[in-house]
Amino acid sequence: MKIKDLYETKKTVISLEIFPPKLDSPVETVFKTLDELADINPDFISVTYGAGGKAKDRTLEIASKIKNEYNIESLAHLTCISATKNQIREAFEVMRKNNIENILAMRGDIPEDPDFEFPNPLQYEHAADLISEVKAERDFSIGAACYPEGHVECDSKVKDIKYLKDKVDMGVDFLMTQLFFDNELFFQFMEQIDIAGINVPVSAGIMPVLNKNQVVRMTKLSGCQMPKKLIRILDRYEDNPAALKEAGEAYAIEQIIDLMAWGVRGIHLYTMNKADTAKRIIGNIENIRKLQNN
Ligand code: FAD
Repeated sequence: MKIKDLYETKKTVISLEIFPPKLDSPVETVFKTLDELADINPDFISVTYGAGGKAKDRTLEIASKIKNEYNIESLAHLTCISATKNQIREAFEVMRKNNIENILAMRGDIPEDPDFEFPNPLQYEHAADLISEVKAERDFSIGAACYPEGHVECDSKVKDIKYLKDKVDMGVDFLMTQLFFDNELFFQFMEQIDIAGINVPVSAGIMPVLNKNQVVRMTKLSGCQMPKKLIRILDRYEDNPAALKEAGEAYAIEQIIDLMAWGVRGIHLYTMNKADTAKRIIGNIENIRKLQNN
C-alpha cells in the first residue's frame, strides 16, 4: 500500500523507525526487535539508510522483510549525496522486485570522514534532485524530511521553508519531521508551512529520551531546543538510568497526546531499536488511537 493512502484512511498514522544493525553484527539481530514491534500494529515501519550509503543493502533487505514477511507496510530511506545515478537506479530495481512501494528521499548527512570518496563530479546536490528522479519512476509514494526548527546548515528558516516547498512541489506525498521536544515549535512550523502553501500530511518525529549523553549529542547534531522541563528531568535523573528511562518515556507520551489532541496527521517514533520502550509508549496511546479511528 502506498503510504500517501494511509493518511487518507487514518486519523493519526502511527509509524516506527528502526536502523539496520552495524555491518559487523548479523542482520538477524533486528528481526528479534521486529518480532516485538509487530505487536504494536504500526501503520508502517521505516528503515534508515547509513550515512554515505553504508549498509544500504541491509536497508532494502530489512524493508523487504517488513513488507513481505511481517506484512507491515515499509518505508525505505534513501539518500543521494554520495550516490551515483546507477546506484540509485539499482536501488529502484531492488525495491520494485521486493514490492517496496514507499521511499523517504533525502540528501543525507555529509559523511564526516575526510577520506570519504564522493562521486566526482557529484551527481546529486540536494534531496530535490533525488525526489524528481523518484517521481519520474511513477510507482513510488514519496516522503521527504523536514525540520520544525530549521535545518542545521540553513542560515534562514524562511529559505529552509522555501526549499521545502520546492521539494514538495516536485511530487512529495508526505513529510516526516526531525525530532523535537517542544510541541509549540512544531505548531508554529505547521502554521508557517501552511502559509507557504505546503499542505501534504506531516508526521511528527518523536524520540524518547533514554540517556543524557544521547540527547545532548542529538540536540547538538540537529540544533533542536530543549525545554526547561526536559532539562530538569535530565539533570535530576542523569545518574539513575531506570528513572530517566521512565521519565523519558512519560515525556514522549505526553508530547504525543498533545500532538494528537492538536490534530497531527502522523506520529513517527524513533525507536532506536528499543522495542520495549516503543511498546510502552504506543501502548499508552493505544486506546486513544482506537477510539479516535472509530
Ligand atoms: P535537503 O532537502 O537537500 O536540504 C539540505 C540543506 O540544503 C538544508 O539546509 C536546505 O535548506 C538546503 N537546501 C535545499 N535545497 C537547496 C537549494 N536548492 N539551494 C541551496 N540550499 C538548499 N540521514 C541519513 O543519512 N540516513 C537516514 O536514513 C536518514 N533518515 C532521516 C529521517 C528523517 C525523518 C529526517 C528528518 C532526517 C533523516 N536523515 C537521514 C538526516 C538527513 O539526511 C539530514 O538532515 C541531511 O543533512 C539533509 O537531508 P534532506 O533530505 O533534508 O536535504
